[in-house]
Amino acid sequence: MSHHQDTKDDDLALRRETMEEADVLLIGGGVMSATLGVLLHQLDPTLNIQIVEALADVARESSNPWNNAGTGHAALCELNYTKQLEDGSVDISKALEINEAFQMSKQFWAYLTEQGILGDPKDFINAVPHMSFVRGAKNVSYLRKRYEQMQAHHFFQDMEFTDDAQTITEWTPLMTQGRNPNESIAATRVQSGTDINFGSLTQQLVDYLEDKDNIKLATNHIVKDLKRQKNGHWQIKVRNMTRGVNRKITAPFVFVGAGGASLPLLQKSDIPEGKGFGGFPVSGQFLVCDNPEIVSKHEAKVYGKAAVGAPPMSVPHLDTRVIDGKKSLLFGPFAGFSPKFLKSGSLLDLPSSVKISNLIPMLAVGKDNLDLTRYLIEQCMLTEEDRIDTLREFFPEAELENWRLETAGQRVQIIKKDQEKGGILQFGTEIVAAEDGSIAALLGASPGASCSVSVMLDVILKCFPHKLDQWQEKLTTMIPGFSKDMKEDVMAYREIRKKANDVLGI
Ligand SMILES: Cc1cc2nc3c(=O)[nH]c(=O)nc-3n(C[C@H](O)[C@H](O)[C@H](O)COP(=O)(O)OP(=O)(O)OC[C@H]3O[C@@H](n4cnc5c(N)ncnc54)[C@H](O)[C@@H]3O)c2cc1C
Repeated sequence: MSHHQDTKDDDLALRRETMEEADVLLIGGGVMSATLGVLLHQLDPTLNIQIVEALADVARESSNPWNNAGTGHAALCELNYTKQLEDGSVDISKALEINEAFQMSKQFWAYLTEQGILGDPKDFINAVPHMSFVRGAKNVSYLRKRYEQMQAHHFFQDMEFTDDAQTITEWTPLMTQGRNPNESIAATRVQSGTDINFGSLTQQLVDYLEDKDNIKLATNHIVKDLKRQKNGHWQIKVRNMTRGVNRKITAPFVFVGAGGASLPLLQKSDIPEGKGFGGFPVSGQFLVCDNPEIVSKHEAKVYGKAAVGAPPMSVPHLDTRVIDGKKSLLFGPFAGFSPKFLKSGSLLDLPSSVKISNLIPMLAVGKDNLDLTRYLIEQCMLTEEDRIDTLREFFPEAELENWRLETAGQRVQIIKKDQEKGGILQFGTEIVAAEDGSIAALLGASPGASCSVSVMLDVILKCFPHKLDQWQEKLTTMIPGFSKDMKEDVMAYREIRKKANDVLGI
């Protein structure tokens, strides 16, 4: 190796060396840490920020484009956000909440694009219509009712409904070709849906941060332990996997953004707020098609209804993906079981996470979720042909030879204490923060990366309340919806949304 190369490697190693003291320590190089890092740097550029990532690069776990479905979740198509109530009406409150959260993400990304921090928006966000699709008279009637209620709100004003097969053919030809003409089907469509490459987004956010003198990224560094010191700051033990040495970093604020591995790190922190939480990992697989002839006939993300017992995030969907400028189709997810908390995790992840404090909630969830257990067992036993049969419910003429199976990321669902039942399985995300705001961990996986901005804003609200007066104005500049009630304020919503969409080209 040349002397020049040696010096270059030394420089890189030094650049990748960790700080001994940081103001902010971000564990994990996924979209969540990256978003929080950029938000905090924008709010206070003097903060010394250390990011620690276990793998050789950022965005290799759930935030990698092939490990998630890339749907910009805005509740435009996901039927699990709109439950039908006993009186036949549809509860759209969760859909409103998720749409508003996604609007905030778009506003922040638009701000970063205008600032030149993010490059060409097409590299991470592309317009792809969002559709819901149902079969059978009962489901058609639910979809119509849902459409009537949603379309009356300004967030969903552009939604269209049809129960006419010809119109569905115009929207997406693959779904009707070869279908029984007597089958009762219906669909809704919102043209302004999106497909997102969260990997590219994460990489760009981290590249921007890494360029600053007071921000460091250490890859191949795994956080092994964290302890609270007498002065209230945290001391973190990290292992440099390349050199095989341990380092210590202290920081007054730590964010645990380790994806599925956030739970064991939260347990290591020993904060009382983290007691009683458990995790239930669900793995996923997608069928992928790159055949240009087929791909060109489907330009939408089409979400169906979940099977009985299926967890909400296992709703089947047939999706256009746009990754590195190339389009493909993705169908799934097919759920599976693996005790790992990360794709790169260990088979001991689940058993080691069982503690005295979460044993009762975990046993209660096992007992109360037999439908889910049955569903997962059935999913694990699916053959290649079974998977194609499921796909044929969406795309009747699908052929096995055009599709390959890809393994997606792990999702660790939250198990938490419940007064009545002992423990419940929760499918959303939850920020668990210490009372003094010195540490926050993000548990759960849904609706995920799409809501990363509003979820990280919640971390800021919980952990930096004393700074809010000072930061309010900048927060409003970056995310105009932050200080508005967009659910009620139609004019503000229209103006803010148009501006963000124009900048992002969607
Ligand atoms: C199958 C599937 C489909 C999905 N579909 C969508 C979708 O369509 N739309 C959407 O918005 N969201 C979706 N999501 C959710 C979304 O991918 C996640 O919410 C998001 O990527 C989580 O980001 P994160 O930063 O929290 O975690 P990750 O991206 O998983 O990053 C965590 C990082 O922490 C690192 N790490 C872990 N432990 C340590 C340690 N001890 N020390 C140092 N580093 C550590 C890991 O290596 C990893 O890089 C999906 C997820 C899955 C699994």
